[in-house]
Amino acid sequence: IASLYRLLLASAPSDPSAPMLISPDGTRLSHGEAHHLAGRLARGLATCGAVPGDRVSVRADKSPTSVLLYLACLRGGFVYVPFNTAYTEDELAYLIGDAEPAVMVGRPEDEAFLNAQAARHGARAVLTLAADGGGSVRDLMASERCEGAPADLRPDDLAAMLYTSGTTGKPKGAMLTQDNLAANGLALAEAWRFQADDVLLHALPLFHAHGLFVACHTTWLAGASMLWLPGFDRDRVLDLLPQATVFMGVPTFYTRLLADPRLTAERVAGMRLFVSGSAPLLAETHRAFEERTGKAILERYGMTETGMNTSNPYDGPRRPGAVGPALPGVSVRVVDEEGAEVPAETVGDVQVKGRNVMKGYWKLPEKTREEFTADGWFKTGDVGRIDAEGYLHIVGRAKDLIISGGYNVYPKEVEDVIDALDGVVESAVVGVPHPDFGEVGVAVVVTRGAVDEAKVLAHCKAHLANYKVPKNAFFVVDLPRNTMGKVQKALLRDTYKGLFA
Ligand code: ATP
Ligand code: MG
Repeated sequence: IASLYRLLLASAPSDPSAPMLISPDGTRLSHGEAHHLAGRLARGLATCGAVPGDRVSVRADKSPTSVLLYLACLRGGFVYVPFNTAYTEDELAYLIGDAEPAVMVGRPEDEAFLNAQAARHGARAVLTLAADGGGSVRDLMASERCEGAPADLRPDDLAAMLYTSGTTGKPKGAMLTQDNLAANGLALAEAWRFQADDVLLHALPLFHAHGLFVACHTTWLAGASMLWLPGFDRDRVLDLLPQATVFMGVPTFYTRLLADPRLTAERVAGMRLFVSGSAPLLAETHRAFEERTGKAILERYGMTETGMNTSNPYDGPRRPGAVGPALPGVSVRVVDEEGAEVPAETVGDVQVKGRNVMKGYWKLPEKTREEFTADGWFKTGDVGRIDAEGYLHIVGRAKDLIISGGYNVYPKEVEDVIDALDGVVESAVVGVPHPDFGEVGVAVVVTRGAVDEAKVLAHCKAHLANYKVPKNAFFVVDLPRNTMGKVQKALLRDTYKGLFA
C-alpha cells in the first residue's frame, strides 16, 4: 500500500454524496465532503509548519471536526497523536515532552497551558478544538482555499502514535505505521463482513485504538457510514440502535445497556453485529445479552501496540469468556517461561506476530528490544491459553499474576469462582505483600444481594486449592475503572498493600 489514506480514498463509495458521518447535532458529512475538508485541513496544518513525519498531538472532545482532523493528518502524512481527554495537566505535560509534537491541538481552555508547553518543547503552533467542533482548527479548515495533496509515503512510515492506557505503568508511545493500520483494518473489515450499507453507531472515545482504528477504519474501508455520538449516553444509544447495523463497545457499555429494560430484541432486530473489547467481557454479560436480545456479542482481543489480534468468528460459535482464534494474517502463540510453545489448554505468555504489530515504542529502544523475541514475536504481557478449537482465552496480565508461597495464582480463575456465587456482580482479585507467603490474594467484590466475606471465602475453599483462596474479601459499590472500562488493579493493590505488612 502507498499509504493508509490512499487506501481509504480508494475504498470510498463511488458516489461522493454517500453519507460518512451523521451526528445528532445536525452535522451530516458525505464521504466526498469529508475528504475535501480533510484536504483543506491538511493544507492548513502544513501552513502551521507541520511537515510529513511531524507529530500532531490532539487532546480534544469528540466531535465531527475531531475525526476530520484525524483524516487530515493521515492525508498530510502527519503522525496523529491523541491524548486521553481525562488526563490532567501534569499527565499531559509528560506526554507532550515525550511526543514533542510540531502542532498541538487542545480544548479552548487548555490554550494558555499549551502555549507554555509549546514554548518549552518547540512546537510550531497551538490550535483549539471545542466540544462543539468549533475553534481555530475549524477556522483553519474554513479559510483554506485549496486542498493539500495526499502525501507520498512508504508502508513503514508512521501514521499514528498512540499511548498505551497506562494500566500497568506509565503510558508508552506505540509507533504505528501505515502498513500496520492498513493490514489490521482490512483484516477486520473482511472478518466482520463490513458492507457499504453498514451504519456503525459510534459511541467510543477517539483517543484509543478501539474507537479510532477499529471503528473508523472498518467503516471507511467498506465505504459505510457512522452515527456519531460525542460519547456513550445510554438514552441516545438506545434511541439510535434501531437505525444502526453495527455497534462497538467496551464491556461497561454492555452492562449499562443491559441494566435498562428498553434494551429488547425488538429494538436491536436490525443490528447485525455487536463487538466488545478493550477489557474482558464477563461470560455472564455475554449470556445475559444473548438471552435478552437474541444476539451473541462478538468479543475480540487487541492492544495499542498491535491493533486486533484475535476475534470470535462472524460465522460459527462466539464463545463467552473466549476472544477467538487469531485473525487472518496474525499469528498467536502461548509460550512457557523458557519461550517454548506450550500444548493446547496450557496457560502461558501470549505472543503475537504479524503486519499489525507496531514498529516499536517511541524513544524506548531498550524496552522495544525487551518486548520482542529474537525471532520477532511481540510479548503482549497477557497470560492465556489456546483451547482445543484454537480459541484464545485471556487469563489475565502477567503483572497481575499472584505468586503465593511459590505457587502461581491466576486472578481470573479465582474471580470466575467468586462471580459464580449467587448475588455477586463481579470481582477483582489482587496480590498484596505478605510476610509468610510473599504475596496473598485479596478479593474485592461487587454484590447485589446478601453476600458476606465468610460466604465468599467458604465458596472459594469449596472450589479452589487452598493456596488460591483469597485471605480477605472486601465489598465495594463499583470496581475502579478507567475510561476504557479497564479495572485499575494497580490502584486496588495500593489500597490493600498494608493489610499484612
Ligand atoms: P499499559 O500497557 O499502559 O499498561 P493497557 O495494556 O491497558 O495499558 P491498552 O493497549 O489500551 O493498554 O490495552 C491492551 C490490553 O487490554 C491487553 O493487553 C489486554 O490485557 C486487555 N484487553 C483488550 N481486549 C481484551 C479482551 N477482549 N479480553 C481481555 N483483555 C483484553
Ligand atoms: Mg499494555
